[in-house]
Amino acid sequence: MCILIVIYKGDFVMGQTTVPTNWKNCATCTHWCGRAIADAFCSNVKVDSNEKGKCAGGGFNGAEMPPMASCSKWQQRFKK
Ligand code: SF4
Repeated sequence: MCILIVIYKGDFVMGQTTVPTNWKNCATCTHWCGRAIADAFCSNVKVDSNEKGKCAGGGFNGAEMPPMASCSKWQQRFKK
């Protein structure tokens, strides 16, 4: 007999990575439309490294960007 238990906590699982909020990449940028969850202190943000989000008004406006990409138009989204 095999029992499979799946606990869904509304969090990322596959490809989850944690990024400091002061790193200048799409995951921490105010223009990025992908999912990013900041911790209680806005020190780090969790993202799914396999997910892409649209750049809205930034250096690659309209493009689907991976969370670890970056450009010179980066603006800090999460502030301590
Ligand atoms: S491409 Fe640049 S402006 Fe656009 S989301 Fe990424 S860092 Fe931000």
